[in-house]
Amino acid sequence: MKIVIVAVIVLICFSANAEQWPSGLITKPEKTAYQETSTYQDVINFISEVQKGSSHVTEISLGSSFEGKNIPVLVLANPKISYPEEAKTSGKPIIYIQGNIHAGEVEGKEVIQILLREILHGSKSHLLDNQIILFAPIYNTDSNDKMATGHRTSQEGSPIETGLRANSQGWDLNRDGIKMEALETRGLIQNIILPWDPTLFVDLHTTNGTWHGYSLTWAPSYHYAGEKAPYDFTWDKLLPQVTDKVKKNHRIHLGPYANYSIERQGWPIQSITTYNHHPRYLVNQFSLRNRMAILSEAFAHERFYQRMNSTHAFLTEILEFTNKNGQEMLAINAQTEADAIQLVREQGGKVKKGVRFKKIPLEEPIAKYRTYDHHKVISADGQISYLRTPNIIELHNVINNSAFEATLESTLPLGYIIPAELTSIAQHLKAHGTIVTPLTENISATGEVFTIRKIIRTPSNFQGHHMLTIEGGFAPTTKKFKQGDFIIDLAQPLANLIFYMLEPQSDDGLVTWNFFDDYFEDNKNSDGIVEYPVFKYFEIK
Ligand SMILES: [Zn+2]
Repeated sequence: MKIVIVAVIVLICFSANAEQWPSGLITKPEKTAYQETSTYQDVINFISEVQKGSSHVTEISLGSSFEGKNIPVLVLANPKISYPEEAKTSGKPIIYIQGNIHAGEVEGKEVIQILLREILHGSKSHLLDNQIILFAPIYNTDSNDKMATGHRTSQEGSPIETGLRANSQGWDLNRDGIKMEALETRGLIQNIILPWDPTLFVDLHTTNGTWHGYSLTWAPSYHYAGEKAPYDFTWDKLLPQVTDKVKKNHRIHLGPYANYSIERQGWPIQSITTYNHHPRYLVNQFSLRNRMAILSEAFAHERFYQRMNSTHAFLTEILEFTNKNGQEMLAINAQTEADAIQLVREQGGKVKKGVRFKKIPLEEPIAKYRTYDHHKVISADGQISYLRTPNIIELHNVINNSAFEATLESTLPLGYIIPAELTSIAQHLKAHGTIVTPLTENISATGEVFTIRKIIRTPSNFQGHHMLTIEGGFAPTTKKFKQGDFIIDLAQPLANLIFYMLEPQSDDGLVTWNFFDDYFEDNKNSDGIVEYPVFKYFEIK
């Protein structure tokens, strides 16, 4: 009898932990003892196999890459959903998860394949009870297959070869959020973000930065010029709860994304610092779109299988969380959108919002920050250096520089007017999903015009651009506009994104990315002074 009970328990334990898969549903890393990562064709083969025998999946396309490769997205839903209208009607939250934006950071690509088989054919089918999941396993298709060693400096040496960070045009797809030059970005915004309207976006990366003591670090869509509620929910509730679950259920430590410099701070360090707020980063743009987002960064100094494991644990617990809390997230996002519109209607022309920001510490320091310990070494000539030990320790009350404070503000208008000849600007705004309409009659509007007195161009080339900062000032005025000029009523869902793109002194707007260079060149006077052609109105006569 005892033997039978033990055998039953062993069987239960085994079946709970080890699911069996046909060879077509085994990923490349699993097949090669984590020496290799999937090629584009491997991923295509896998997603073809994983759809067989499941009635809960539809394949759609994000678009095509520069080299003409299809970028597949799998829509998982129960009951099955094929179109965004059906998704909207279902009332369920939509979770969009993307891997391989940087094709050297391959963990997301592999883990999405594993989750596809587990949700469609294995033990995780309940994750479709209350939500719709969109998986894009291989966002940067072209550069995935340009595999070689050495593409990931300081990354632990597995897999042996990986693809390239930039896309095939040399652009970093995670700096393209505003300028939208890459076909991948255009496809993402036009074929996924606008029609499907994800409640939460998760962007999967791998960081080879600081030797902190976490298997994976995360960041929310940072709060800067948008509404605060999606950030608050992600920071105060989603990320802490998911982090606790990952520790409890998977025995893996997660923490905030940040770096530190021992060279500058000495040891032990007193503070950590995150990356920037700019909406060129896709995750950060989501807060301006009144939606939630998460940056996920596996720790490149652990081995490949460990990085896959931590990414898998993180995504699993995020999806468990969203499966339970999705309705609250939908309600917060909807309220945020309404608040953004209401602010324009009630305070347009009166209230100011930030257009340039700097990093400041959060009020709460990190009570216990995990990191590798360091020895202090003093050489014979008195030089101090620090050598990393293999021990992970906890530092107490570490300052976390991951809040943002405005260094320059500008008045939120009721809207903007763009001259008819700047069609390319109107088209770019529309491509982002904003409502831009031609004037049907001549009008007169009161507001502010910005006079540019100085144009500062960065000497270095960044993403193919010499970025612009302009100096000058606003002055109140009344101007006449013609039928055919473009008007943008800011009382619309993407008010905060439009404001950030069109404000002349914004640190990540259309001016920054050279959209107005030709206009400035053609219209400046002999002193280099030029009027910014986008008028911000406070009243239409
Ligand atoms: Zn990355």
